[in-house]
Amino acid sequence: NEPLLKVEGLKKYFPVQAGVITHTVGHVKAVDDVSFEVYEGETLGIVGESGCGKSTTGRMLMRLLEPTEGNITFSGHKISELSNKELRAVRRDIQMVFQDPYASLNPRHTIGKILEEPLIVHGIGNAKERKERVMSLLNIVGLSDFHAKRYPHQFSGGQRQRVGIARALMTNPKLVIADEPVSALDVSVQAQVLNLMQDLQREFKLTYIFIAHDLGVVRHISNRVGVMYLGHIVELADSESLYEEPLHPYTQALLSAVPIPDPDFKREAELIKGDIPSPSNPPSGCTFHTRCPHKMAVCSQQVPVFNEIKPGHSVACHLYDEAHRNDIKQSN
Ligand code: SF4
Ligand code: MG
Repeated sequence: NEPLLKVEGLKKYFPVQAGVITHTVGHVKAVDDVSFEVYEGETLGIVGESGCGKSTTGRMLMRLLEPTEGNITFSGHKISELSNKELRAVRRDIQMVFQDPYASLNPRHTIGKILEEPLIVHGIGNAKERKERVMSLLNIVGLSDFHAKRYPHQFSGGQRQRVGIARALMTNPKLVIADEPVSALDVSVQAQVLNLMQDLQREFKLTYIFIAHDLGVVRHISNRVGVMYLGHIVELADSESLYEEPLHPYTQALLSAVPIPDPDFKREAELIKGDIPSPSNPPSGCTFHTRCPHKMAVCSQQVPVFNEIKPGHSVACHLYDEAHRNDIKQSN
């Protein structure tokens, strides 16, 4: 079973400039050797604190940003090798939903015009067909025909995100990259938008990459979840396995920060100490060692390898190295 999307060794380094005559003094390793696959019809959640590289990863998949290194293969095509014409065709198939729909909707255009635009860009349909498609998508996302004549400022946050979703679906894409699509919304509205996205996924056989800063948000929508820290994926697993048995100390800390609905169940609070280190000067070895409650001597010296510990469950942490697993066994 070939994945719809395959990402191999993806890197994005931004130069850091300094001096009166600016020269490059270093690099921010925003994304540093990220690999994953996404299968048709599934949702891959990508979670991490701000600055971990999750949005940068999403933008490279759309080729809105050129990778420094690495391969992205979509539907058998290497995205980096496509001509402009071929890239346009791929862009029909990969669409993005943004965190702040207000910032991404032109305030001077009606919703009808905003929704029609992707069809015009890709040369889809005549004026009548485009108008019908706009009306149909408005209804599909839970809005009405008359909303086509309105402007973005006349909509609530939740309605605007429905417009953002409708716009992403105009070209009938295969893959939708949603970058924190509900982070700016009230909690009550978040659930509605998440439900809508799940309904649309079933109806149109969509594949999602769902980016979030909170493990709680992606829990019910994701089949698999990848956790990012300082440009790396530190853990990747089936949702069930990740939430039931998180292996990486960072994932464990993120999970303990998720509010628990059952008040009788008290999880030992294991909040993450300290700030995220600067990605321009990341810690040696395991980049999480400055904040990790399980840090060992080896952690600041050696970069942990990303290993599959159980079928479908991979982690980059020295606690799961063969040698340390033996230590742990002996001390038990
Ligand atoms: Fe913590 Fe060491 Fe594992 Fe990094 S490698 S997460 S510092 S135990
Ligand atoms: Mg972001």
